[in-house]
Amino acid sequence: MNEAHEEFAIGDFEKHCEVRGFSLTGMQIDQFVRYAHGLQKWNDRVNLTAIVDFGGILLKHFVDCLELIPVMQSLSGVEGLTVGPLLDFGTGAGFPGLVLKLAIPDLSVTLCDSLRKRTDFLEHVVDDLALSDVTVIHGRAEELASHREYREQFLQVVARAVARLSVLAELAGPLVDVGGFFHAMKGPSPETEMDDARIAMERVGFSHTVVNRYSLPLNAGDHTVVSLYKDRHTSNRFPRKMGDAQRSPLV
Ligand code: SAM
Repeated sequence: MNEAHEEFAIGDFEKHCEVRGFSLTGMQIDQFVRYAHGLQKWNDRVNLTAIVDFGGILLKHFVDCLELIPVMQSLSGVEGLTVGPLLDFGTGAGFPGLVLKLAIPDLSVTLCDSLRKRTDFLEHVVDDLALSDVTVIHGRAEELASHREYREQFLQVVARAVARLSVLAELAGPLVDVGGFFHAMKGPSPETEMDDARIAMERVGFSHTVVNRYSLPLNAGDHTVVSLYKDRHTSNRFPRKMGDAQRSPLV
């Protein structure tokens, strides 16, 4: 079936970015193209994404992930585009962290995933595009928080399609710096998850929640970014033992 997004071309991507206020240089556009082609090539032997057509990657991955930029800017009150340091856990093939890095070259980004084949791909892209200030970590978000170099070190922590918000809040809380945000990229109706996450959010130090809604071009989907603001330190009791947040969420 010829889905509308298959017709979304690189020129459409460029124009869309311009309209949204983040115009990209020729070099950045080239990097996005190389990244998309790398994803297609590696996807033949490593399961990285279900969306394999070039237009679909531009629209449903790149355009989608870039919607975090206006959200981060408005919440952080930052005029320019440097809103980091940023951690993306459960990043998979680099969504949204690597997309944000290509759009904001000054951003300091840490990409974490528990699957080695996915972090191998990320290392390949970082080398291929000669990116600096990107750290790729093969591991779990729960483990990072026990290292001083990562605990409460990130002004922005992000996650897309990783777990329910109650679980994400517990994993992200110990990693977000006081005064920073955790942003969860969610579907059109995150309300039930948000209700379920209230206790976990409060226990790890998040004080309030902001929801931003957006629609992808060509009716490719309605999504939300749920942003949690952290206003106090997280107790050393968090995160709990590996897997506890997933097995018995704090609800
Ligand atoms: N964020 C990517 C995206 O939007 O396409 C990947 C989503 S994929 C459904 C979820 C990813 O989270 C997988 O690559 C998995 O290995 C990783 N993951 C799940 N739990 C994790 C954890 N506790 N710490 C780090 N990575 C995790």
